[in-house]
Amino acid sequence: MNEKPWLLALEQMIQTQIVARGVQDRRVLAAMRAVPRHLFVAEAHQEWAYSDAPLPIDEGQTISQPYMVALMTSLLELPPKGARVLEIGTGSGYQTAVLAHLADEVRSVERFATLSEKAAQRLAALGLDNVHLRVGDGTLGWKEHAPYDGILVTAAAPKVPPALCDQLADGGRLIIPVGSQGAQILECWQRQGADYRRKRICPVAFVPLIGEQGWPER
Ligand code: SAH
Repeated sequence: MNEKPWLLALEQMIQTQIVARGVQDRRVLAAMRAVPRHLFVAEAHQEWAYSDAPLPIDEGQTISQPYMVALMTSLLELPPKGARVLEIGTGSGYQTAVLAHLADEVRSVERFATLSEKAAQRLAALGLDNVHLRVGDGTLGWKEHAPYDGILVTAAAPKVPPALCDQLADGGRLIIPVGSQGAQILECWQRQGADYRRKRICPVAFVPLIGEQGWPER
């Protein structure tokens, strides 16, 4: 691909899939504009990189639909300065890259080392050095660096992992799909002291969150 076609495709993606569906947050849109999505999928899928759909990545996982990335990112309502974010489910690293443009520090946990390694290469190639990746069970969070202003879970949980609630800063938000393995509701939890308030956002379908505080491995 030369430069021009993907820049046009990216802008069209932002206007028709994201702005048109109601995500207006300028900082989120700027972050989406800054990340070339085609660099996060296999070459065979690059011509669909800006289409309105999730796409397959390795290990039977998926890179989320662009709108879903924008929606989840905007729901975090990150502070404009100094934000610290935790993502569970690095996958391709695309959502991680978008977050890296909005937060001071992004940590992301992935259970497959193969995916994490590829994501690390892509993020480094884009010069995103405020990102830290770890291979492990993200249902337990990343306790050493808690609390986080935002926690974004990109896989579907049977219930909200208590470890993630514990690692949320006061006022921070946790965005997570909760439900069965086939269908979930996207939930936004905000911590207020010892209190957690839930907003239910919309029906979604994500790959399962597998781990100690998620679905059991089969
Ligand atoms: N954010 C990714 C979406 C990847 S799909 C992207 O933009 O490409 C969800 C990812 O969550 C998968 O890669 C899957 O392997 C991972 N995952 C599932 N359970 C996990 C767990 N307990 N800890 C860490 N990662 C997990």
